[in-house]
Amino acid sequence: MNAIADNLRFVRKKIMQAALANGRDPSQIKLVAVSKGKTEADVEAAIAAGQLVFGENRVQEAKAKFANLRAANPALELHLIGPLQTNKADDAVRLFDVIQTLDRPSLAEALAKAIKKTGRVPRLYIEVNSGSEPQKAGVAPEDFGSFLDFCRDACGLAVNGVMCIPPQAGDPTPHFLRLKTLAEQYGLAHISMGMSADFETAIRCGATEVRVGSAIFGER
Ligand SMILES: *Cc1c(COP(=O)(O)O)cnc(C)c1O
Repeated sequence: MNAIADNLRFVRKKIMQAALANGRDPSQIKLVAVSKGKTEADVEAAIAAGQLVFGENRVQEAKAKFANLRAANPALELHLIGPLQTNKADDAVRLFDVIQTLDRPSLAEALAKAIKKTGRVPRLYIEVNSGSEPQKAGVAPEDFGSFLDFCRDACGLAVNGVMCIPPQAGDPTPHFLRLKTLAEQYGLAHISMGMSADFETAIRCGATEVRVGSAIFGER
């Protein structure tokens, strides 16, 4: 038994329990294993334990780590969960199946161009700055509708979901509920929220994807 396989089993069980306790179907909640800062061997251990969906926060790190893993495991699904610079849009679109951090007009334009150029169409989630924290990435909740319109109408992008990272301190519940409400209001199916410390709360609030790193791979 290795620790990563044990941790994965534990997290999956917690996800299942949180789903059932809230009248939700556990199969409707996707576990994104966040492997940032961890090695290719760590990811391999997770794959051996049946995990195929991974999240990374840097394009270059993910590109290096997953080059061989991708080739060996065609079913892998890779999510970008960190900030994306416009000059890395092409690389990101080539590498990732989901980009969770669409957060500004210049990036929407760069992604539209990259999609046209590469012919690859990752799913896109809008990152919401649910706590309206000045230093944090993401669209303010009150600007969500106009930004979504811009992505769709001006850039021709299909937007598939939302994600948020609540403020470090305090109860994340109101932030999770705000994100869930936005997703419902605008008919977006994918709701990415909840990390190691709060994924069960996020599931109670309606998460369809949880992003769990340290509870699977250990502290970074
Ligand atoms: C690092 C990270 C996670 C995972 O955090 P843990 O606390 O290790 O589970 C989730 N989402 C984002 C955006 C992250 O950067």
